[in-house]
Amino acid sequence: MNLKSMTLPEVTAALKELGQPAFRGKQVYAWLHKGVRSYDEMTNLPKDLREALAQQYPLYAPVAVRKQESQRDGTIKYLWQLSDGNCVETVLMRYHYGNTVCISTEVGCRMGCAFCASTLGGLVRKLEPYEMLDQVLFTQLDSGLPVNHIVLMGIGEPLDNFENVMRFLELVNSQEGMNISMRHISLSTCGLVPKIDELAKRKLQISLAISLHGPNDAVRDKIMPVNKAYPMDTLLAACRRYYEATSRRIHFEYAMIDGVNDTPEAARELLRRMKGLPAHFNLIPLNHVEESPLKPSSKAAVANFQKILEDGGITATVRRTLGGDIDASCGQLRRKHQKKQE
Ligand code: SAH
Repeated sequence: MNLKSMTLPEVTAALKELGQPAFRGKQVYAWLHKGVRSYDEMTNLPKDLREALAQQYPLYAPVAVRKQESQRDGTIKYLWQLSDGNCVETVLMRYHYGNTVCISTEVGCRMGCAFCASTLGGLVRKLEPYEMLDQVLFTQLDSGLPVNHIVLMGIGEPLDNFENVMRFLELVNSQEGMNISMRHISLSTCGLVPKIDELAKRKLQISLAISLHGPNDAVRDKIMPVNKAYPMDTLLAACRRYYEATSRRIHFEYAMIDGVNDTPEAARELLRRMKGLPAHFNLIPLNHVEESPLKPSSKAAVANFQKILEDGGITATVRRTLGGDIDASCGQLRRKHQKKQE
């Protein structure tokens, strides 16, 4: 395993194998979580130890191949190149309550949602825990802005890379590392039901977001292939179990697509089906993806949909779109970069 994917006890054990005392483990772990690019930056280690580590545990750091900064809202988007040449996107968003980093969990995605740019080329590979950590570390370092919140809403399906994502959460939350509170982390899934149950068992204090995007199977089947494996009743039942296990209110993402899922009838159907499930809805006007015929809903349709949900007792916010001038939504930058190289 990569040294940067290891927990502190694991790093300490790895150093012990190299004949080192326990305090070296702590030193190395602290350096790794500062975002060093080479063992030579670990100035309080003896030179021969630095060399031994470089031999046994090659140290990787991502390279920013593109960086775009929004002139409107300060959103910064990075295209990071990984050690094997693959690229993933990370977005830093600035809110009044702090800075949020949106990270990718996979190179590409195999979920096939009709409106999403991340899935167009399929899944290339899953990210290692340290490759998720690196996105947070190096975004913070490069931007000079402290990261307070993390959302797993970039490229990929986090629950399709379950163990690596769980390990990443443990690393980024560790006191000797970035020490980011679980309550400041959100994980979004398109609805992999068995994994939602597995996540519930871990009883983490993270926020769970479900990409719903439809009021029923007819609509979800059309735009989200995952619904065929886990239809909406099955998904909502898993959400109820998740709530019972964790007492954490679930967030539902709902991309508003013109003529597909944005009618008043759709809002009323949602209200009926969500009964008794504490929920918050994020309504997101669809970001237009070049390859897709789907279009965003009108402002009026979004406002009306929101009003019906709120009148029915479900809180719903319309997501402010940040970084509209820099392709800051899911997979668009990586896609453009790929196309240019083809
Ligand atoms: N695979 C996970 C994580 C991706 S999160 C998931 O599906 O939840 C990214 C969020 O943006 C998801 O809610 C996704 O459905 C949504 N999304 C993807 N493409 C979009 C687009 N073109 N416009 C608006 N939202 C989009």
